[in-house]
Amino acid sequence: MTGSCHELSLKPGAEGSRHGILIDCGLFQGRDEGREASAADLTIDFPIDHIRALVVTHVHIDHVGRIPYLLAAGFEGPIICSEPSAVMLPEILEDALKIGFTRNRDLIERVLGLIRGRVVPVPYGQWYSVVGEGECSLSLRLQQAGHILGSAYVECDARVGDVEERIVFSGDLGAPHSPLLPEPESPERVDRLVIESTYGDRDHEDRETRRDRLRAVLENALADGGTVLIPAFSIGRTQELLYEIEGIIADFAADPGIDWKSLEIVVDSPLAANFTRIYRDLKPFWDTEARELIRSGRHPLSFEQLTVIDSHEDHLNAVEYLAKSRRPCVVLAGSGMCAGGRVVNYLKAMLDDERNDVLFVGYQAAGTPGRDILAYGPRGGWVELDGERYDIRARVHQVGGYSAHAGQRDLLRFVEGIPEAPGEIRVVHGDSGAKLAFRGLLEARVGSRVLIPE
Ligand SMILES: [Zn+2]
Repeated sequence: MTGSCHELSLKPGAEGSRHGILIDCGLFQGRDEGREASAADLTIDFPIDHIRALVVTHVHIDHVGRIPYLLAAGFEGPIICSEPSAVMLPEILEDALKIGFTRNRDLIERVLGLIRGRVVPVPYGQWYSVVGEGECSLSLRLQQAGHILGSAYVECDARVGDVEERIVFSGDLGAPHSPLLPEPESPERVDRLVIESTYGDRDHEDRETRRDRLRAVLENALADGGTVLIPAFSIGRTQELLYEIEGIIADFAADPGIDWKSLEIVVDSPLAANFTRIYRDLKPFWDTEARELIRSGRHPLSFEQLTVIDSHEDHLNAVEYLAKSRRPCVVLAGSGMCAGGRVVNYLKAMLDDERNDVLFVGYQAAGTPGRDILAYGPRGGWVELDGERYDIRARVHQVGGYSAHAGQRDLLRFVEGIPEAPGEIRVVHGDSGAKLAFRGLLEARVGSRVLIPE
């Protein structure tokens, strides 16, 4: 299975030449799931001679991971994306190249140089012409998708002869009220809509509820000097959590009885360190609420109690120190399903102490240690990590909603907000249950023709 990759092509009459663009060129699953890509996942197995541009909706690996392979296959066009994505794209691909492609520094630099040379940042809300010759024209416009910083949905105006059509690709859409990012606004006009449905069959907890639950778990740590371990790393989710934790500390710092200022926050991941810095540098793209906090003197992603760990040596020291110390602390480390990454060392050192808490914020797939901890932890069971059993005495919790993805209600609101129902809607991305549920809902509510492409 491959990541997200869609083609929009213009087919003029027999004598005209065909033009197309690609929307995203992703790789299924990043290293957060602890799975290496196979050669078959990487191959560009479709013709690209007529592809005039690649449009990137956002920089998650399942949307951009195959870009190096697209270039290797001979793609020569521009890579069009939003301004924040233009900053983040080379960074995320550098990491992906190191893990899946080569350790050869020179080769990585050459590929990155090529990518930097091709990137064309286009401001949100501005039309950009990709094809404009003879019978055909194609221009596009990016709009805020509210999913991660820089994320966009893509409006395309395509014309062949006298036939004009507006096609919109949603990319991944964010939930309204997600921390840091402005919420997506529905497009003003759509003839054909291609929309994701990752959470097409369910809704998230609302922001207040999940914030209260997060606060309750943090209070546990403060009460008994334990560590709250959050197995999470992804661009977007890590920064949302930091933003939320800083907000809780600031809002409750004045309460008597709990010393919120003594809570330490540790982000243990080289990539998270880098992206948290980039998120900070890109403040102009935060939402109004976040920018007002900055104006009032707050620093949501660089507050005093936050420590970011980069090197492996510092990581090992932190594990040792926190397992022994009696200081309340929150640690964010990947991978999200505990199948690998730095979180495993923390789990080994901390699971058997009842002062500690493990807080899951993302989906735990069957067969992963994360799923086992969630299932057996509350019953006093154990989990196997690197071939050894570890008893679970730490408390185990789960809070949904820090997913950076729109829930069913949010997706529906995005579609229903389009003044006139699109003639056709294609439901993509998400497991088949989610797609079917969302198609059913659209058919009942919107009145468009709804397809689930193969
Ligand atoms: Zn995404």
